[in-house]
Amino acid sequence: MKQILVLNSGSSSIKYELFDMNRMHVLESGLLECIGEPESCYQRKSAGRTHSDRIPVAIPNHEYGMQLIRESLGQNESFCNGDFLVGIGHRVVHGGELFSGPTRIDEDVIESIRRLIPLAPLHNPANLLGIEISRLAFPNVQQVAVFDTAFHQTLPRHAYHYAIPREYYQRYQIRRYGFHGTSHHYVTRQVADALNMPLSELNIIVFHLGNGASAAAIRAGKSIDTSMGLTPLEGLVMGTRSGDLDPAVVFYLGSEAGLSLDQIDTLLNKQSGLKGICGVNDMREVLRRTQTGDDLACLAIDLFCYRIKKYLGGYYAVLGRLDAIAFTAGIGENVPQIRQQSCQGLAHIGIELDAQRNESSGPGIREIQSSTSAVKVFVVPTNEELEIAQQTLQTVAAD
Ligand code: AMP
Repeated sequence: MKQILVLNSGSSSIKYELFDMNRMHVLESGLLECIGEPESCYQRKSAGRTHSDRIPVAIPNHEYGMQLIRESLGQNESFCNGDFLVGIGHRVVHGGELFSGPTRIDEDVIESIRRLIPLAPLHNPANLLGIEISRLAFPNVQQVAVFDTAFHQTLPRHAYHYAIPREYYQRYQIRRYGFHGTSHHYVTRQVADALNMPLSELNIIVFHLGNGASAAAIRAGKSIDTSMGLTPLEGLVMGTRSGDLDPAVVFYLGSEAGLSLDQIDTLLNKQSGLKGICGVNDMREVLRRTQTGDDLACLAIDLFCYRIKKYLGGYYAVLGRLDAIAFTAGIGENVPQIRQQSCQGLAHIGIELDAQRNESSGPGIREIQSSTSAVKVFVVPTNEELEIAQQTLQTVAAD
């Protein structure tokens, strides 16, 4: 049985999933939270169990956290020697222009990820720490980096350049990178399979709508545009991020509201989006408030869907032929109202939902377009961990 361990190391957390790659299912998963804080805890779930226990455990640092994971997984030595565990896949947020696919980790790769820290100062250091301690804990297992930005490295230059003096791209690498690439890639492959179409022929627009949200235009299986930019702040309205806005708002906030750059950063990344409009970022609560006639909650939903529709129209124009649209992540998978409102009034361009199909729920990928809709519309449960595991397996198998 071939196994792959997927690790997602954050600044105060480590999330892991162990996959049986023969059957493509999770053998064990866990989450270590609040590392280095008094309330640190360990949540672990093994195959066949429907719930996990959240146990308070002192986890002073990431090294100790990795030791806990190793102990939990390493019931027998053959597991850790790589006989069964054939690879470890690490989620890395920013690969800049250096990485366009999953990459076997060595000293040079570690150094490159380190060089990219200015582009992702909050994420890449934590991802690197996860890589370094995992190499120490599992020295005989091949390690692979899978980058959130990699899928979007196929963007043509007119899509990734900002119209600012070129020296800022050359000296500071300021350009559109895009994120959620692992999810967009996974969803695109799922839809190609569902349509029984080669990936290399599929034209699709994917909406990853979670607390973070992004859209991607995919032509012939390759990303040609995406809504997030240099950072995940650009594009759609999100839980706490503003998405698109006139850059002059930043100067105005400085000169008129007297905010510092740090304060503006916090305002646009953590206090805007749904939360900024109606006070809460959790879509379930926003929807609940709309039921009570809360006008600002209604505005938040209208803004959220209007922005999606604008990207849908723009990407449709860019793609020309459109085979499918896919909705994924917490909101995309679970909120029929958002899908309906975002696609409303688009029958004239071949996009129409079937109300009953859209309202239905269930596991797995499903189609929700009407019988007359020229474009297929899918709801696709995303699985970034499985995508990382598959890319990791391909990478170690290719060596
Ligand atoms: P994610 O970042 O993919 O975990 O998605 C988080 C967002 O999805 C939050 O705004 C949640 O409120 C929303 N969400 C998740 N499940 C549901 C659901 N069943 N109904 C409404 N919103 C949901």
